[in-house]
Amino acid sequence: MAVQVDLAIRGPAAYGLAQRVITEMESAGVWPTPLNFEIWLNAVHEPEGALATEIQRVLDAEGAISEADSERLAAKFLPRNKLSEQMRDAGAVLDRELSSVADVIAEAHRSQHAYGRTLAGASETISHTQDGQGLKTLVASLTSATEKAQAETAKLEQRLESSTEEIARLRENLDQVRREAMTDALTDLANRKAFDEQLARACAHADATGSPMTLALLDIDHFKRFNDTWGHQTGDQVLRYVASVLSRVCGETRFAARFGGEEFALIFPGEASGAVSCALEVIRKEIASRSLRRRSTNDDLGAVTISGGFAERQAGESLLALMERADAALYRSKRTGRNLISAAETRVRAA
Ligand code: GH3
Ligand code: MG
Ligand code: MG
Repeated sequence: MAVQVDLAIRGPAAYGLAQRVITEMESAGVWPTPLNFEIWLNAVHEPEGALATEIQRVLDAEGAISEADSERLAAKFLPRNKLSEQMRDAGAVLDRELSSVADVIAEAHRSQHAYGRTLAGASETISHTQDGQGLKTLVASLTSATEKAQAETAKLEQRLESSTEEIARLRENLDQVRREAMTDALTDLANRKAFDEQLARACAHADATGSPMTLALLDIDHFKRFNDTWGHQTGDQVLRYVASVLSRVCGETRFAARFGGEEFALIFPGEASGAVSCALEVIRKEIASRSLRRRSTNDDLGAVTISGGFAERQAGESLLALMERADAALYRSKRTGRNLISAAETRVRAA
């Protein structure tokens, strides 16, 4: 359903959910570590999801889940961990580059010292040397010391140049990782993490400027049935289709994200509920009016519909309270027939 895990663990069913998580961990035979709790919380919350399926697969295949399995599950299925793993890799490369640059600098420092000592020795010698041959020898040794110093400098320059290139490459990789960490791979929309950040930014902006801001949550209707009938792959195709409508209607000024599963979230900075209601109706009607075709077989899939709820942020309202109101409005759309968009109730503030 519409309630996401962060809302669920702060909602009315929170303790029941937590107890189920503990029961599930116990029956899977894993310790209730914070990491396992997070893994099983997500799995119990979405029992049909990829994480729950993978846990079952490992249990069936190996009979138990090791700490290493947990680490792997977390890295693969908990988005926050996925990012930190890539960051750790990048950090290791950066570490290596920096320590190799430090070595080169230490080496250059040593050879500069040696060169300095040669020069000092020469100036000592020159004050005692009268004959031409002695001077010649001195100049030859100075020339060779200078050449050596030049060669060292050239080596240093080369090493620094290649380090600079390596670091530039690393920076590009990190940019790419950052972009990927913010993007939903299936739909190419912003993902949940990007949404969380954007929502916090949009609220801070609304607070600072006193301008309105509205949040909408959308959920595809009877998507499970759709998947069961046409298969997961065709389901994915529908997710991409819905995402493309959202991103087109949102354009540059609004923000569309895949919130999770078959749920989407839209942020409307600077827009009050009236304008948002119109935009959401455009989206709802467009999606409901289009008859979809299955790519592989050209079967007529009929139309999918979406339900939605939206809430204009009230002054000083917390992100969580705003999300809860939008979610409650979405739930109302589901309860009262689906293919509907509902406005959230305004919250009466305690005096
Ligand atoms: P409702 O109208 O009440 O929202 O019903 P629903 O069936 O859409 O809702 P429910 O939460 O029961 O099912 C959501 C389904 O979405 C179940 C899950 O398999 C499917 N789903 C979640 N993520 C994906 C995905 O990435 N791809 C596909 N194909 N299906 C997904
Ligand atoms: Mg749902
Ligand atoms: Mg749904």
